[in-house]
Amino acid sequence: MDYNKDNIEEIVKQVLAGMKATSVSPAPAARSASGSIPKTARVAMLTGIEKFELKSYPMPEVGDNDILVKVEGCGVCGTDAHEYKRDPFGLIPVALGHEGTGEIVKMGKNVTVDSAGKPLKVGDKVVSCMIFKDNPDITMFDLNKQNVGGADVYGLLPDDNYHMNGWFADYILIREGSTIFNVSDLDLDSRILIEPCAVLIHAVERAKTTGILRFNSRVAVQGCGPIGLICIAVLRTMGIENIVAVDGNAKRLEFAKRMGADTTVNFTEHKGIEALTEAVKDAFGGYLADFAFQCTGNPVAHANVYKFIRNGGGLCELGFFINGGDASINPHFDICAKEITTVGSWVYTLRDYATTFDFLKRAIAIGLPIKELITHKYPLEQINDAFITNVKMEGLKIAVVNK
Ligand SMILES: [Zn+2]
Repeated sequence: MDYNKDNIEEIVKQVLAGMKATSVSPAPAARSASGSIPKTARVAMLTGIEKFELKSYPMPEVGDNDILVKVEGCGVCGTDAHEYKRDPFGLIPVALGHEGTGEIVKMGKNVTVDSAGKPLKVGDKVVSCMIFKDNPDITMFDLNKQNVGGADVYGLLPDDNYHMNGWFADYILIREGSTIFNVSDLDLDSRILIEPCAVLIHAVERAKTTGILRFNSRVAVQGCGPIGLICIAVLRTMGIENIVAVDGNAKRLEFAKRMGADTTVNFTEHKGIEALTEAVKDAFGGYLADFAFQCTGNPVAHANVYKFIRNGGGLCELGFFINGGDASINPHFDICAKEITTVGSWVYTLRDYATTFDFLKRAIAIGLPIKELITHKYPLEQINDAFITNVKMEGLKIAVVNK
């Protein structure tokens, strides 16, 4: 914007007009998009192993501190797939879907701002993050507070009388004590990608604590599923240029290049860890990596990644979202003698969530094909197909989209 004198007068006029508009707008007891809310809503309930059923429930009452959101879309996560295949969390029947976003259609009279203090109104596009039932003093500006491990999220809650507890549904009721963010300035695809991207924002924040990750670092990213690909995009938006992607799938490596990887190494073309290490070294022009991100859930990949890292380098292990079994390393050669600094990373904090909104804008602004991560979209009626596609690992990010 050009702040010359004439402009300033015009801007002041506009700001005053805007203030007037908000100060005269009425604040009724419960604000809603009148007449547009149906009496019932559908929820995709996981009622058995590998079985979703669309159930209709009466639209719940919206309490003074609650927000009713019309769901627009929700990504399918690896965690959802585990629950779908085996119910490891013992949640069935459950309304899944935690990578969701939608539009506020009704809010209680006490709701005025989101978790970052941004005003909220009917019509705003939102995402929710964690629910701190037992720990209400956690706020997004407490930088060193726990990650999501100590909190609940919508989409992984036990069923209750509301039923609208997950984003694979027409509507979701965001209740008092939940976190919510106004993300009206992001398009639907970007909003669906917020949750997985927050995992990488957190991982890179963890990596930065080692003091080893710098603008000119040589960084190896092992594993080019959605997590590895987003990792490359986060590094690229930070200004890190020298990135080598390692994977066994040529198509994914091609995508890794478009996301910002400088060079790629296909491990299927190199027999044995010595040859693979040489290939990584060649990719960096004769050097080992200063830092590596391990983004696969394969224990052998964990054991291998140390070999790619130089003496005094760093490692962020984020591939083992769930228990993937034990890995064998040689602590002398892999950690002590090399003096490698290792950090683990799991999920994210509330603060990382807010950082992610800006990351997505930057990634799009510099032309990274981040939205192409969503390879498949299904309507709610076809949620079983969405999960079958996810389990077959045919695409990258599968999404259920309501419109
Ligand atoms: Zn997830």
